[in-house]
Parts: sequence; C-alpha cells; structure tokens
Amino acid sequence: MTVETLHFQAEVAKLLDIVVHALYSQKDVFLRELISNASDACDRLRYAAITEPALTEGDAEFKVRLIPDETAKLLTIADNGIGMSRDDLVENLGTIARSGTARFAEALAAQAAKADGEKTLSLIGQFGVGFYAAFMVAGRVDVITRKAGEAQGWKWSSDGKGDFTVEPYDEAPRGTRIVLHLKDDALDYLKPETLTRVVKTYSDHIDLPVVLVEGEESRTLNAAAALWTRPKAEITPEQYKEFYHHVGHAFDDPWLTVHMHAEGAIEYTGLVFVPSDRPFDLFDPDRRQRLKLYVRRVFITDDCEGLVPSYLRFLKGIVDTPDLPLNVSREMLQDNPLVRKIGRGLVGRVLAEIGKASEDATRYAEFWETFGAVLKEGIYEDFERRATILDLCRFRSSLRDGWISLADYVAAMPEGQEAIYFLTGDSVAALKANPQIEGFTAKGVEVLLLTDTIDEFWTTMAPPYKEHRFASVAMAGGDLAKIKAKDDAPEAEPKPEDENPTAEADIHALALAMKAVFGDEVSAVKSSERLTASPVCLVSGDAGVSLHMERLLKAHNRTGAHADRVLEINPKHPVIKALAQHAEGDAFADAAWLLLDQARIVEGEPVADAAAFSRRLTSVMEKGLL
Ligand code: ADP
Ligand code: MG
Repeated sequence: MTVETLHFQAEVAKLLDIVVHALYSQKDVFLRELISNASDACDRLRYAAITEPALTEGDAEFKVRLIPDETAKLLTIADNGIGMSRDDLVENLGTIARSGTARFAEALAAQAAKADGEKTLSLIGQFGVGFYAAFMVAGRVDVITRKAGEAQGWKWSSDGKGDFTVEPYDEAPRGTRIVLHLKDDALDYLKPETLTRVVKTYSDHIDLPVVLVEGEESRTLNAAAALWTRPKAEITPEQYKEFYHHVGHAFDDPWLTVHMHAEGAIEYTGLVFVPSDRPFDLFDPDRRQRLKLYVRRVFITDDCEGLVPSYLRFLKGIVDTPDLPLNVSREMLQDNPLVRKIGRGLVGRVLAEIGKASEDATRYAEFWETFGAVLKEGIYEDFERRATILDLCRFRSSLRDGWISLADYVAAMPEGQEAIYFLTGDSVAALKANPQIEGFTAKGVEVLLLTDTIDEFWTTMAPPYKEHRFASVAMAGGDLAKIKAKDDAPEAEPKPEDENPTAEADIHALALAMKAVFGDEVSAVKSSERLTASPVCLVSGDAGVSLHMERLLKAHNRTGAHADRVLEINPKHPVIKALAQHAEGDAFADAAWLLLDQARIVEGEPVADAAAFSRRLTSVMEKGLL
C-alpha cells in the first residue's frame, strides 16, 4: 500500500481557515485541545479494556507525553490511548462527521464573511473545533497512530490547506502521536517553561499525567488528578486541603469544603471552598467571582460571570459540567442559562452548608468576622435569597457581648416592641457610647450596632425579618413610648419623683430659642424620649440619609447627599432644665453652642469652629471654678 492523497471535506477546509485566523490571539488553546483529545482517547481505551483487557497490551498506565525537539522544531503530543484505524483517521480528521456540524460550518462561514471576529469566535466556541487548532501553530501536522487491538499503524499528514495524505506506518506504537511542525512564530512552544505554563493553566486537572519529556528525563507537569470526580468517602481532608491550596493559590486552610454532585436536568460537580483568610482583593471594585469552570475536567475559565454572585466572591474552587461544549467561549458563557442554573444550585447548597456550620457559634464567628461584610451585600443584591442571608447574619448588640442572630434578637424583645432597632456608625465602642441608644437601653430594648459600610445600604431596603421591620434609632425614631420596659431594665426600677418638672411649654420655648441660635446648622431642635443620661444628641431627621452615611460618602469624595441634622434635648436633664429658665443672652447662646458641639463630638463629627468651642468651654470652666 502506498500514500493516498485525499481532500478535506469542503466544510473542513473552510473551518480550518476560519479557526486558524479567528483563534489567532488564543494560540495556547491548541495544546488544551490536543491534550483533551489524548485524554479522551485514554478514557475510551480505559473503558473498552473493562470488557477486553487484552486491548491495553499490558500498558494501562495512561499518560500524555509532550516531546519538544528543538533542532527539528517539532512538538509531539503522544498518548497511549485507543488510537485510530485508517477509516477513523479519514473520518475524524478529514470530515465533519458529527451531525449539526455542517450547518455550523455554514453559519460560521456566513459570520466570518461579515468579518465580525467576536461573533465568529463565539460561534466557534459553541462547537468543538479541537484538532484543527493544531494548524494555528503548525505548518504541517503528522498523526501517527495505531488502534488498540489492530496490528497496522497509520500516518496521516497535512499542511491544512485542502489535502491530507494517509499511508501505512509500521513502527507505530498503540495510541496516537500528533507531530507538529511548528511555525516560526510558534517556536516558543518548544520551551519547557511555556509548556509548563500552558499545561498548568489549562490542563492541570486532566486526570492523567501530562509528562514533559526532555532527553532522558521526564516530569509530570499537571497534578494529574481530577479530585472532584472521586467519591467523597475516598478523599481525605488533607487531599481537599491540597487541592484548595492549588486551585485557590492559597496557603490557609479551607474554613468550609463543599463537594457536591447534581444530576437530573443538568449535571455538574462542584468542589467549593470558603477560605479561612480574607483574600487580598476581596474589596476590589470589580468584585469578580473566581470559581473555575471546567467542562469534562478541562479548564475553561475562571472568569465566568453569572456563575456565582459577587457577594460570594470569596469562594474558591471549581465547577465541572459535561453539559457545556468543551470549546465554549467566554462570550457564550455570558448570560448563559445553563451557567445560571448551575450557579443557582451551587449557591443554594453553599448557603445551606454555611448555615449548618453556623450551629457552632465559635467557629462561625471566624467566618463571620472575615466574610460577613461581603455576604451582607447579598441582602441588597439577591432578592430571592434575602431571607436566607438574613438568617446567616450575625450582629453586635448594645446589650450583649459577642455575636447575635436576628432570631436571638427577636427572642429578647420586650412587650410592645415591633421593629428591629439598629444604629450605624464607625465602631462598636462609639456606638455603645452614643446617647441615641440611652432610652433603648433604659427600657431593655436591644439595638444592633452596625459598622460595615454595606449596612447603610441593606438596612434601607431589607425585607422585614419575621414581620419585624428594621428601624434606625438615628432616624428620630419615637417608638419608645409604646414599648414596655423589661422587668430587669433600668427604667423598670422605681425612680424618685421629679420634684420640679419643667413645663412642656418651657421646653418648647427652649427648643425654639436654641434653633434660633443655631440657624441652619441644624434642621430642628426637639424634645427627646430617648435620652436618659445625656443632655443632648444629634440624630438624622426622617428624611435623607443617615449621618454615618453622609460621612461615608464624604470619605469617598461624594458630597451630594446631605443628612438632615436634628438636635434632640433631654427635658429631664438638669442642664436642659436650667437652660429652660433663662433662654436668652450671650451666656445662653454659648451654652447652646457647647451642647451642639458636644453632640457632634459624640456622634463622631468635628466641631464646626474649634476656636469658638475652646473659648466657650474656657469661659464656662472659669464660671464653674473661680
Ligand atoms: P472532538 O474532540 O470534539 O470530538 P476534535 O476535532 O478534537 O473534536 O477531534 C476529532 C476526533 O478525532 C475525535 O472525536 C476523535 O475521534 C479523533 N481524535 C483526535 N485526537 C485523537 C487521539 N489523540 N486519539 C484518538 N482519537 C483522536
Ligand atoms: Mg477534541
């Protein structure tokens, strides 16, 4: 038998041309495709040998070898898989046999004619172009192969221009060797470091070894184990951890490992980790998730928008599905319904597992302190799961140490309390000292102390938790009158009667006089229910953003939003009572300004005029001391 020359099927010739040009910028993928084919071939022989062990000819140690030859400018990708017969060669590498592919080739040609590179790429992505990618880097490709169970080997050869040849080849070992005659601009692929990088990037978890052969030596470039495909029972915590280190480029231990497999309408496996340590880029503005998407154990991308939402961007790990085409492109992954469905399943499971882990409060605190601020973004962003996420949230409280859940909060509510009260600010310590919560504390009403930036956002639109709405104590909330003090609360103690209460009319007049002194510095001065120990406090009015929010925006150079400032005065406080007696003159104005500045300091705001503040304070001290 001699050399036969055959023509590529017309569609193949066209496809070849388009692939080589459209994928030009992504040359690396040729290696992924060829390794993937080699892996498939090994998988197929592995499977066939189950019923016919003789097929392996005693060599069942499947591997892919990469053999660079600098002098001849050849790169060989060799496998000991199932190999191809002559007819296989002609059919698989000369025609597009798969149904639907011919139509694809037509669509592709039409698209390419419009010279729309992006769309062409995305079309290519929807179908495997696999083997032909070899012609991106090679001017000639030889395929030397012998099928398992057959004696005769074959050599296929082509320059990818329209013809290919097939001839018998006697020395062929079982399996397939793809010999690439590299183009001059692709000689980089002879370098061990290039091959290592490409294999590490794309084929690391191909579950058979990808071995680089350098002269007498050879070394395995990939981890050679698709860990996630193994049964959970066979995987040790140590192995999970190693895989996490590898896939997450991490050094810490995973705080949580979720290994799941879903079957049914969609099939996928997820092996996902919650880290212990906060990744350095957690608060990067792009907020991108980093899970790696695999299709049949072949790495596709780690930038798959829509797989998991931003508020779970701390997750590391992989998702592997056989339901997407191997050559799926990024364009195609955008807004992909299958990806979204997989994501939804995965997110549900991960949140459920985090929920289970929350039963161990000490352990859960580690997670919450690291990632709570990010997870809370979900209350704002994930309508569907807001309630689930609220259940996972933990808070600092004005009445207890440690972290509490909303369930804990609600269980401790006194009679008459309907809302869940919170106060936002810069630190728990400052919030605890904030006079705004005095009245709540006096009645035994707990206030959630919120210090994350995101708290300003979700609290404005969180759904009620078990019918309890969220209410900011800073927004001049006057609910206190309706709430009955708890038995053990300070206010429940009998208090000595106020011998000399100030008339409501006098307090009202005082408020007006103070407002007149302040002018536009505050929007109102009001008598307060909430204060017990302090004479005054500064709160946000019902309209507009909170004081804390305004400060946050300012810190980010966003000055548009203005908080409405209301100064509340405590009618039972001796200073206020005294002031109500002579609400006029310079001494009164000084005292009023001092009170406002005090309220500002406690709220964490600067005093408006430090020199005036200091002068007034000195004058008051003189009167008191001298
Ligand atoms: P796909 O892998 O999506 O089927 P490819 O273009 O990558 O498409 O490969 C076409 C076909 O060629 C494969 O389906 C397979 O039958 C055959 N083939 C390619 N490489 C090998 C190999 N190394 N060993 C055996 N068969 C191979
Ligand atoms: Mg392939």
